[in-house]
Amino acid sequence: MPENHSEEDWRSLFTDMGAFWLHDDNPERPHALLTSGVHSNGFFNWGVVAEQPIIARQAVNDLAARMEMTPGLGSLVATVSRVVGPAYGAITLANDLALLFSITRSGTDRCFSGFTVKQPDGSMELRQTLRAGERVLVCEDTVTTGKSVNETIRAVEAAGGQVLPFIAAICNRSGLGMADNHAVISLLTVSMKTWQPHECELCKQGSEAIRPKQEGNWARLTQ
Ligand SMILES: [Zn+2]
Repeated sequence: MPENHSEEDWRSLFTDMGAFWLHDDNPERPHALLTSGVHSNGFFNWGVVAEQPIIARQAVNDLAARMEMTPGLGSLVATVSRVVGPAYGAITLANDLALLFSITRSGTDRCFSGFTVKQPDGSMELRQTLRAGERVLVCEDTVTTGKSVNETIRAVEAAGGQVLPFIAAICNRSGLGMADNHAVISLLTVSMKTWQPHECELCKQGSEAIRPKQEGNWARLTQ
């Protein structure tokens, strides 16, 4: 599986399609209020990519290629029996990765997919039943704090799965090298800043915090 696009290519493509945005430090422009309540100078929206299956599949191909080329870890990709990601964003990502692994393997060595769902106490629950001895790759569309990934790892381990020593992400937006002692391998690695609202550098300069997915706001962020 050759890697067809560089990280810079993907950043340009995601920007052009309205999936990726970084603030330009002009305080007259608004900035992002994330679902978690923190403010940020950047945003990545996998949903915009996922609704275009051909582009999503190409991104998944390149992410898989990046995993396979990672020294010391790449050979483990061939041993993955299931790919699991946290709902909702990473459901299609897990499925696309599992499909790719399945169709590139010989014989009946198929790769399964699965997902975890957030529980009221903040933990994650795996919605599939693992077979004995499963080796699981955990994936995530956008890694910010790594919390969803960490909870997904715990859920898979609690279900008896063996989690690979790395996780796969489309966008590592915190530049995290590790999540819960698992290396983060991503298509795009950026260091977007996040602040608690009362400490936000952009708010202090007069920039307005807006929700990127709310009607009309993406145009305001990117125009
Ligand atoms: Zn702010």
